[in-house]
Amino acid sequence: MAKKEILRCSFCGKPRDEVKILIAGHEGHICEGCVEHAQEIVDQELSLAGETKKSAPYNKKLTVKKPKEIKIFLDQYIIGQDDAKKILAVAVYNHYKRIVQKPKANDDEIEIEKSNIIMVGETGTGKTLLAKTIAKMLNVPFCIVDATVFTEAGYVGEDVESMLTRLLQNCNYDVEAAQQGIVFIDEIDKIARRQDNPSITRDVSGEGVQQGLLKMLEGTDVLVPPQGGRKHPDQKMIPVNTSNILFICGGAFDGINQIIGRRINTNAIGFNVNKELQNYQRQNLLQFVNATDIKSFGIIPELLGRLPIITYLNPLDAETLKSILTEPKNSLVKQYTKLFDLEDIKLEIEPAVLDFMVEKALEYKLGARGLRSIFETILTEAMFEMPGTGETSFLLTEEYARKMFENSKMSMLKVA
Ligand code: ADP
Repeated sequence: MAKKEILRCSFCGKPRDEVKILIAGHEGHICEGCVEHAQEIVDQELSLAGETKKSAPYNKKLTVKKPKEIKIFLDQYIIGQDDAKKILAVAVYNHYKRIVQKPKANDDEIEIEKSNIIMVGETGTGKTLLAKTIAKMLNVPFCIVDATVFTEAGYVGEDVESMLTRLLQNCNYDVEAAQQGIVFIDEIDKIARRQDNPSITRDVSGEGVQQGLLKMLEGTDVLVPPQGGRKHPDQKMIPVNTSNILFICGGAFDGINQIIGRRINTNAIGFNVNKELQNYQRQNLLQFVNATDIKSFGIIPELLGRLPIITYLNPLDAETLKSILTEPKNSLVKQYTKLFDLEDIKLEIEPAVLDFMVEKALEYKLGARGLRSIFETILTEAMFEMPGTGETSFLLTEEYARKMFENSKMSMLKVA
């Protein structure tokens, strides 16, 4: 009599009683352990072949607007900076036009190159806000990364690839959406080479990081660690193609004014020109910034080549700061009025209070970013005391604002 056959996993050979599940196939069986293992192999192979498992899709549709419409949209949120807005509007429009019309462009073999952007401007002048607002308008995934966290492979810090991790995280790992996203690289000036650069004090040359950024900015397939940080051999990577990702870099480039000034002076011929230029120098020299200046600052030419669009942001003067308080769609005045309104309290602000806040922001060198803390400092007491009292209005006077500011910790923070 034939012996009863013991069922086994056809892959690992384990008998039925040693496994939890044994799935029957046409001519064999597979246990749960081997199914899991097989899935890992499939994921790895797909990942190497440039395919990925579909994750929850990023449910937003790319909306490309005309440059003028982009500028009008930006105007709602950002005060001034007209040159930067225009240049960005055109660059972004061309970039997304290039993506949308790709098959057509291929017909005549003219390939439109990517228009990555570099923005030069003091901190707090609206660089991040511009990039963020553009991404919001286009409905594309967006992330902000700080260039200073990246280090050359082999050093402590993050690999440049991990910037794409953040982009993926912001769109539920929807690779397709991420591949059309925008990455804002802040503090790009901090990875400048030391030589020629008066303001950088770090010992480690940023050149390695700049090299690392090259391919990524140009457009390549990058294996991205899903959780970021350093890559390690056993990690499953997500392949992302960066050809259609728009990179916008921003930096304060402290000291670049001198570089621009020197260049302009050397190029200028004749007394009259010089006199005119001297006047310019007193104004904002940043408007003349070009690739040569950024190169002299310590950004390697290869990287600059991949950042063909250069624009600048003006420093914020008192008038602009005042407009920032009231004009943008979600200006601070509108935000605080709403906060009070939610308590059924009508907030009224004396116009002199706005001047006072601007004066303090300039005096304490806090810029636009500081306006919020000043507002908060001035209104905290009222926002603490008033809810629940039944009061229906609050008039913020200059006298009250001064008193609150002078009694605050903030007033001790004045920089020389
Ligand atoms: P940067 O990236 O240049 O350092 P941000 O874009 O982060 O500066 O600006 C900081 C904050 O200051 C913004 O969130 C915004 O509230 C305000 N701000 C700066 N510049 C402007 C501007 N031109 N218009 C409106 N708000 C501005």
